[in-house]
Amino acid sequence: MPTARIREFNAVIKDIRKVDVLFGYCYPSTYRVGMTGLATHIFYSMLNAREDTSCERYFRYDVPSPGHSVETARPLHDNHIVGFSLTYEENILGMIQMLDFGGVPVLARDREDKHPIVLAGGPVVNSNPEPYVDFVDAFVIGEGDLVLHDIIDIVRESISREGALEKIALLKGIYVPAANPSSVTRLIMKDIDSVFHPTAQIVPDVPVGAKLEPVFGKSFLLEVARGCGHSCKFCLVGHICQPRRVRSIGRLKEIIEIGLQETPVRKIALIASSIGDLKELEDLADWIVTQDLQISAPSLRADIVTEGLLASLVAGGQRTLTIAPETGSESLRSAMGKGLSDDAIENAVSLAAQAGYKAIKLYFIVGLPGETDEDVEAIPEMVKRLSSGRRLRISVGINPFIPKAQTRLQRNAQPPIEVIRYKIRTVERDLRNVPRVNVESLDPRNARIQAALSLGDRSIGKVIRRAASYDGLSGWRRAEKETNIPFFSLANDVQRLQGTLPWSIIKKAKIA
Ligand code: SF4
Repeated sequence: MPTARIREFNAVIKDIRKVDVLFGYCYPSTYRVGMTGLATHIFYSMLNAREDTSCERYFRYDVPSPGHSVETARPLHDNHIVGFSLTYEENILGMIQMLDFGGVPVLARDREDKHPIVLAGGPVVNSNPEPYVDFVDAFVIGEGDLVLHDIIDIVRESISREGALEKIALLKGIYVPAANPSSVTRLIMKDIDSVFHPTAQIVPDVPVGAKLEPVFGKSFLLEVARGCGHSCKFCLVGHICQPRRVRSIGRLKEIIEIGLQETPVRKIALIASSIGDLKELEDLADWIVTQDLQISAPSLRADIVTEGLLASLVAGGQRTLTIAPETGSESLRSAMGKGLSDDAIENAVSLAAQAGYKAIKLYFIVGLPGETDEDVEAIPEMVKRLSSGRRLRISVGINPFIPKAQTRLQRNAQPPIEVIRYKIRTVERDLRNVPRVNVESLDPRNARIQAALSLGDRSIGKVIRRAASYDGLSGWRRAEKETNIPFFSLANDVQRLQGTLPWSIIKKAKIA
């Protein structure tokens, strides 16, 4: 039984004798990352706004216990519903471990009437839920805030777990594997302007820079837009969250004003996949700094960067500009649908240097279909050009191409691990002696695991189950060996990728 509680503002503790439904919101990774995600705040506030429901949070790491809630140490198995948000493929291990720690049978078929209903949502299961069907009772396919109230109503009114699941299976935007549906429709909200936005957000009462401090620091998370106005061939968001929906600037200002009365912070973190989709971004950033607030903006598309916008972001305390050129060469970038010129990138970095930015973060992908040696060499060439004559620190992030289900590259194999490794080494070697440039990359073996989980079918549930009991990279290898299921070669199997797609059950989005 955990003892020390995390001190937080705005955590909600209800008398559970006065509610009908207990909901455990679970983030299967660290507290810090979970509390950085807007989904945690949306679902927590939305559910606790209901008088009949108590929602408490669970995290895999950096909490007193992964099987007990942060608020009151409520055991996970005491909830009527537990909902997991899977942002990254490998989070599935954390989910299985949390179920285990929390006394909930890991396999859906072993659960009985006394056990919670296990839900899963988030981008990972939205693109391909099939690898996880052994562990999940119901998947939320699409935007959870469209169906969660219906799920709570059903559970509150049902007399049995089985009966509740049967009714949940009939909801749009829900996939209950045991109900064996022939198809599932993704549910997407038409307009987000009037939809609920959390204003009393939880803030951990920890010192600046502490391990539990969210990634953007103590800030108020402001959801500016959902989806993206672009559709890069490799990008999951660009495919499964369409269409782009943007909040009006009037509503955004209103949310900030109410939010800062209820949340004890002085920093606004703008949240969107493509923040430049807000036409009035410069006005909003300017308005925020004139309120004497700090501001944090995520990665910006280089072609929306203006002098005025950067001046506001710097005045609001931002010191690092993040841009994702994705490729070194303009031709490959264009072939991937990114639609961003070298000149736009160069211009954004020049403006950032003039505006007073101290550092730039650049993200690239290697191993994309059609990539040549020249394309890879173009990455260090671009970085050198951008660093030349400027005193900016440049951090270069290299990610191997991970083919994702539901994207236009879903049938493209991931290159062999040695090939990816060679490409990464080429970039590292060419940038080794460039002053103020630092290169970080994702291990191609981890990228291979992510790709296998993204493209896999139900058979890999066995591998996942084993890997969760071992953990780490070697755990996946051991699980592959013991199950005799070719997990590591899955995303590189060209023939297999031409066959039936395991996620074909998910149909086009329905806009509600
Ligand atoms: S990579 Fe960025 S711009 Fe392209 S579709 Fe994804 S979110 Fe949009």
